Amino acid sequence: MPAREFVESGPVGTELFDTASARRSAHVLPDFVKGVLDGVPMTRTSKFLDAYKPDPFAPAGATGGHVCPFHGEGLFSDEELLQLLEAALSRGLHAKLHATADATVRQALEAVAVMRERYGDGPVFHVAHPEFVHPDDVARFAELSVVADASPVLWLPNPMNSVIAQQVQDHYMERIWPLRDLHDAGTLVAAGSDWPVAMEVPNPWLSIETMVTRRSPDPVFPGSLAADQALDLDTAIRAHTVNAARAMGLAERTGRLSPGMSADFIVLDRNVFDVPVEHVHNTEVRQTWFAGRLVHTAAAD
Ligand SMILES: [Zn+2]
Repeated sequence: MPAREFVESGPVGTELFDTASARRSAHVLPDFVKGVLDGVPMTRTSKFLDAYKPDPFAPAGATGGHVCPFHGEGLFSDEELLQLLEAALSRGLHAKLHATADATVRQALEAVAVMRERYGDGPVFHVAHPEFVHPDDVARFAELSVVADASPVLWLPNPMNSVIAQQVQDHYMERIWPLRDLHDAGTLVAAGSDWPVAMEVPNPWLSIETMVTRRSPDPVFPGSLAADQALDLDTAIRAHTVNAARAMGLAERTGRLSPGMSADFIVLDRNVFDVPVEHVHNTEVRQTWFAGRLVHTAAAD
């Protein structure tokens, strides 16, 4: 539930939060609020600790955010963020915070630390799209039990990252999407689609493969992106299954095949552990089962 108007118009903030229980059903779980703390690095709307490079796309004579030093601007003051989290947690809700660059990631972590003092270990916090995390802040994710919501599929060479490399200091690109650092520090890394914002088709196989390869399957975009932040295949699959369930508070209901859990599973055309990892993005789903019911069957070949 958005804290402020974002993609669509409609009720937001406490007006919306107060309707959560009325909107709840078996499979609609309005448990989280979302605060968008900054924008995206391509357009210099993410907030960084180290200034952007001068804007290579700035029109002649441009000023303000197009020149250097410019760090980007956050969308919430520290006080506004605490007010949002208080509004959420006092209603029994949890919080997902969009923070794409290191300054807003730090702001989010500071706010979570305050809320842990007030509310203890119960509330769940996510930082969504943590593309850039200061090395000093990596360990704080686990210390504060903050989920790293790895969404969407942007940890590979692509046009977006080419533009980002022109806008942010080079050292940032060397550690972009620090999923390995976060995982090794004990952070719950949970994959999400960010659908429909960033992807037309929320295909998890591309996401799983590229968490491991940090390469694009498309030869038009060669090379790798911060390859030492790669995860192994087992960890990438966990990020898309059990970790995502845990992140949503559904660990006792789904995310694993185990007696008593919801029978949510898929039948694949291959064992992804038996094929070269570069083939994982071509994986096809033959059947989809949800809560023990067959809900999708692929067309016959
Ligand atoms: Zn977001």
